[in-house]
Amino acid sequence: MASIFEMIIAGEIPAEFIHRDKEVVAFRDINPVAPVHVLVVPTKPIPTIDDVTDADIPVVGRMYAVARDIARSEGVAEQGYRLVMNCRDHGGQEVPHLHLHLIGGRQLGPMVGSCVDPD
Ligand code: 5GP
Repeated sequence: MASIFEMIIAGEIPAEFIHRDKEVVAFRDINPVAPVHVLVVPTKPIPTIDDVTDADIPVVGRMYAVARDIARSEGVAEQGYRLVMNCRDHGGQEVPHLHLHLIGGRQLGPMVGSCVDPD
């Protein structure tokens, strides 16, 4: 079954796109945790970073380059931002389609602070 991101990429579910090319798309997160919260997603439906093959390495690099450019265009590059990629259950990944969270626009807490026990 297609993931929700595959349906967004196919145009079957609406999203606010910021970037779109053959390999990588980016759209705003539906439930933003900061003023800027963008998801950078490969068009290839790779489930997790653990599923990335050596042949996929260039597209992962492109995801970071797209995130860098969006951070600049969203005006958060100078003050800084965070890039997060969750992997599977323990990593808190909800959507099984590789994606990078670009989060910025406010002071973020320490990384370990976001890793507290959810219970
Ligand atoms: P994960 O937990 O898998 O790393 O992150 C999934 C992200 O996708 C979450 O931040 C969630 O808010 C976002 N998300 C889930 N469904 C949708 C949707 O239909 N549209 C958009 N734009 N974002 C979504």
